[in-house]
Order: sequence, then structure tokens, then C-alpha cells
Amino acid sequence: MNRLNGRPVKIRDLGEFGLIARIKNRLPTLPSSVIKGIGDDAAVSALPTGKQLLTTVDLLIEGVHFDFSFLSPYLLGRKSLSVNVSDIAAMGATPKFAFLSLAIPERMKIETLDDFFKGFLETAAEYGISLLGGDTSASPGVLFINVTLLGEGKKGKLVFRHGAKPGDDLYVTGTLGDSLLGLKIAQEKRKGRVSREEKYLLNRHFNPTPRVREGRTLGEKRLVHSMIDVSDGLLSDLGHICEESRVGARLWVERLPLSRSLRAAAGKRESASWQMALQGGEDYELLFSASPKNGPRIQALGRKWKCGITRIGRIEPAESGIVIEGPSGLVDLRPFKGYDHFGGRRGKKSLSEKEKRAERVGAWK
Ligand code: ADP
Ligand code: MG
Repeated sequence: MNRLNGRPVKIRDLGEFGLIARIKNRLPTLPSSVIKGIGDDAAVSALPTGKQLLTTVDLLIEGVHFDFSFLSPYLLGRKSLSVNVSDIAAMGATPKFAFLSLAIPERMKIETLDDFFKGFLETAAEYGISLLGGDTSASPGVLFINVTLLGEGKKGKLVFRHGAKPGDDLYVTGTLGDSLLGLKIAQEKRKGRVSREEKYLLNRHFNPTPRVREGRTLGEKRLVHSMIDVSDGLLSDLGHICEESRVGARLWVERLPLSRSLRAAAGKRESASWQMALQGGEDYELLFSASPKNGPRIQALGRKWKCGITRIGRIEPAESGIVIEGPSGLVDLRPFKGYDHFGGRRGKKSLSEKEKRAERVGAWK
């Protein structure tokens, strides 16, 4: 541990400029397209011809979006970047440059920040992202993290939420519901041993893998009409596609991809597992729609990719709304709702303050 006069070094000992210098010293060499990174009034990079610029921003607040009693600073660093990477992936594009703004409580230990940066910069390196700047301030309260991520995509190859057409097949990568169950396990089991299954689920929540290569391939091969990443929950994110595309959709509950770990942890309560798959947020899988004529090519990619691809439904005309076929008939959608930041929930009246907080902490979007 870093010590100063016999006590741990705190952020206030470094000051803003000491902190920025500390960040800058850790950065790897920048790619040649970057003319200026950290250290001037603005970052400068060359614009590739024929490419389009994508920008996504996320704000994360301690106590609202994350909680250090569940999440280590290292994993927080990873996740604060990977959730943004997932947004760029869902457009069929490539993440390139990150900007990181922090409001840091002065009492925070320097090690906490160093671990955060370790996670952030490791994730950046994995996806070929360079940190080009940010802003730093003291916070009178909790830690605030704001990540801006720029990406580039080929003109005509980006995939939007608004392109779904009636008759499209609906697919999802990977498995659904793992992240929500992982969060529940973390909240219920603060101490004690975790099984292999539980470990898998915890990792799905705290260390998600954005599907960058998958999203880019689907976009570049022009296989899909619409795409979104599953951050709020399948129902909620499908709702976004339907709204933006002015279409309806039909889902088949029995086709929803569930991991072995989720099935094992849910035991006999089969309905609990598909409810988690329908509602659970933060799986960071890709949900997309495609013309049935591309089915064989998409299925072939699914066999090639480790995460796999599953056909889970169909896009229908707007009049149909969203319909879910369960094992014993149509599922009543009223009690379901994806995560909503201000606690607006249909079908459930008022939650106590404690319940609201429990619902919010750990929900990143
Ligand atoms: P200015 O006052 O002109 O906004 P700052 O002193 O805030 O400049 O920042 C100096 C440099 O450090 C800038 O290049 C800025 O982008 C970078 N920077 C500041 N905070 C961070 C941070 N948390 N992460 C990465 N770069 C940062
Ligand atoms: Mg500044």
C-alpha cells in the first residue's frame, strides 16, 4: 500500500494534476491516428475516410448503479468500459477512443483508483481502445464515473433499432437471465462459499462480455435489419426495437436460451428461469432481427461462435403488439417490466424506499 507519513495515501494527497499525471503515466503508446491524447485542451485524431463516427455516453453513480460492497474497484473499471463497448457493438461498429470523467471523494484510497484503472485499461487494451482524455473533480459525496466512448463504423453497414420488418426472424446471442440471477446471488450470499454455477452467474453480472466481433460481423455482412444490446432486459429492449421500427413481435418462451448454470440454480422452478430471461437486464447479449432468407447464414455463424445464436421469435405488424407464447398459452405481460430508472413499474404499485434501493443498486442502465 502507498503510505504518506505512516498513513494510506488518499486522493486529496495527489490533487487533480497529480492524479491526471498518474493516469497518463499508465497509458500504452497511442495508435498513429491519434495526434494528441491526454495533455492539451482537446484530444485530436484523424478521421478515416468512408467511416462514420459513433458516440455513446454512460453515467455511473456509486449507490445507484454500483456498490463497492458487491463489486471490486477492478471489476468496476472493467464494467464501466464494457457496458459502453456493448452499445457500440450493438450498432455493428468498432470502439476506438474513450474519455473518462471522474468525481472522486477525497477520502478514497489511491489503491482503489489504481485498481479501477487496472480494470479500465485492461479492458481498453482487449478491445483496442485508447483513453484520450476526460475530466477530474473532487466529489463531496460518492464516486461518479462518466464514460464517453467513440467508435467507427463503415457507411451503410451500421445497424439501428429502427430497421425491423414484419416477417423478420428474431435472434439473440448467448444466454439470457444469467446476469440478474448473478446479482441476486451476490445480494443474498454476501459471505460463504459459492458453487461453480454461482461463480459463472456472478461473473456474468460483474464482468460481462460485450459482443463486439459478433455485432460487427452481422453488420458488415449486412445480415440483419435491426439490433440492440440487451441491457434493460429482453422484453424492455425488444420494446425499444418495436417502438423505433413501428412493429410488433412474438416470442417463444420455450426457445429462450438459458445457461446450464441458470437452469441448475433455478432447479425445478422452470418458470422462474424464463421469467429471469424475459426480464433480467445487463446480459449484454445482442438482440437482432433478420430476413428469413438470411437464416442459414446466421445459423452458420451461431455454430461458429462460442456464444451461439438462438432464434427466439418473429417480428409482426404493429397491431399485434408484443405477444409471448408460453408453455401453456399466451403469457400475461402486465406484471413484467424491464428496469426503469425512476422506479415506474406497471402492475406493481408502490415499493418501499428500501425495496427501491435494492432494485436500483446493481442496475447499470
Ligand atoms: P482543462 O482544464 O483544459 O479541461 P484538465 O486540466 O481538466 O484540462 O485536463 C488536462 C488533461 O487531462 C486533458 O487532456 C484531459 O482530457 C485529461 N484528463 C483529465 N481528467 C482525466 C481522466 N479522469 N482520465 C483521463 N484523462 C483525463
Ligand atoms: Mg477539465
